[in-house]
Amino acid sequence: MLNIPTVLPNEIDRSYLGAVMRQNGDNKESAIIAKIALHVGLGDKTRRQLPAIELLGKIAQTDTQTFVRQHSTLPYRRGITSYFADLRHGSEDNRNILRDSGMRVARPGAYCCHACIEHDLATHGRSYWHREHQIPGLLWCPTHGTPLHYMEHERSFLRAPDQLLDECRLVTEPWLKNTIDNQFIKNFLAISFELLNRERPFDVKHISGILKKEALLRGLHSHCGKVKAPLLSDAIIENFGREWLATVMPTLAYKQQGKLLSQMDGVLYLTTSASSSTAYILALSYLFETPEVALIALTRSDESSFKASRARSTHKIDQHDLKSAYLKAHGSYAKTANLLKTTYSAICGRLSSMKLPNLDDDSWQSMQRFAAAYFVEGKSLSDSVSTGGFAIDVLDIFVRVAGTLITDDLLEMKKPKSGRGSGIRRPLKLAPNEVALAKGPMATKFSPNLRREQRLSLLAV
Ligand SMILES: [Zn+2]
Repeated sequence: MLNIPTVLPNEIDRSYLGAVMRQNGDNKESAIIAKIALHVGLGDKTRRQLPAIELLGKIAQTDTQTFVRQHSTLPYRRGITSYFADLRHGSEDNRNILRDSGMRVARPGAYCCHACIEHDLATHGRSYWHREHQIPGLLWCPTHGTPLHYMEHERSFLRAPDQLLDECRLVTEPWLKNTIDNQFIKNFLAISFELLNRERPFDVKHISGILKKEALLRGLHSHCGKVKAPLLSDAIIENFGREWLATVMPTLAYKQQGKLLSQMDGVLYLTTSASSSTAYILALSYLFETPEVALIALTRSDESSFKASRARSTHKIDQHDLKSAYLKAHGSYAKTANLLKTTYSAICGRLSSMKLPNLDDDSWQSMQRFAAAYFVEGKSLSDSVSTGGFAIDVLDIFVRVAGTLITDDLLEMKKPKSGRGSGIRRPLKLAPNEVALAKGPMATKFSPNLRREQRLSLLAV
């Protein structure tokens, strides 16, 4: 029997996980996750099938979307994206996002406010880590206006912050002086908080258009060709400062003047995400007079995005193309919709009526193993079922899929490539004390593949 604490207002997911661990005397994350799954009657599911954040939502007695929107930084990190841009934050239609990214941090370290800790102890009987304090670039408490404390390792989220105050670093005065009065940084934070409280992302495809329009009015370079006009990235460095940028988007802190940085300048011309939400928020904070004006422009782009997706969803998709996309997407409805550049709701009903179920990764891989054993290796049905390593209900799914599709197609499907991105490492975000230690110009030339310690030592020259 588990003791379940109450999740507190704006408590970040990992803080709540830590509270559950402490109440039950567990110090292993995997062990407590397994116990939570048993507690909610889902002990037979794997972590793939049931992401940890979904389990936390269940014991907090709320639905996954509400828990993700109120207790994770995912709405910030996916606030502006081209990847499943029509998917609501926390939607169970795409558990891969919840599993791989649901509980990620938005910046390195764990940040807290001394005054908030005292208030929480007096009001709730325990201290906790607030979600809003973890937003990149925030160095002071929005409620109390005092500098934040921070621990460098994210594992600290699992402990109560009042127990760590003696070990915490404090954001120092010079930092605050340089940042708290900077209007561009204030704009950045205001837009970030708005994204944190939204139900779904803004679509990059529409935002790059409004950013480009504003950039052209200011005579900035706005395409990927030879640089003949001032760069957005240089304007951002000049107005936000390299030191603060080193904590938010380090590639900017080290960039040479006049050199195009696609991660930042690309927000003006790339129709798929040039970078994380951060680059788009920086551009919006610089190009628009106030956060309010920027948010009005974002909302308008969102409305046109919604109309466009409605138009796409009514477009008739050929049956063969639908089947083919379903196979390429390994049976995932969300991925099928993405391949066909349509919405989940547009294909859901049709696939379902074709008896093609929405599959998770485990079910798909089990089916591949079964098909190879039964059709290629000629094993018996019962041996093939045990080779597949699945329960009889997955065999039922297989029969449905195979009855509709050609088995050879299934066998030809290759596993998705492992790893994400191009393999080129980007410099990590620095904590305030690390930037304070760094001396000399930030625009030093060096490879992003250098380790954090090596980069710091180069900066110190
Ligand atoms: Zn506070």
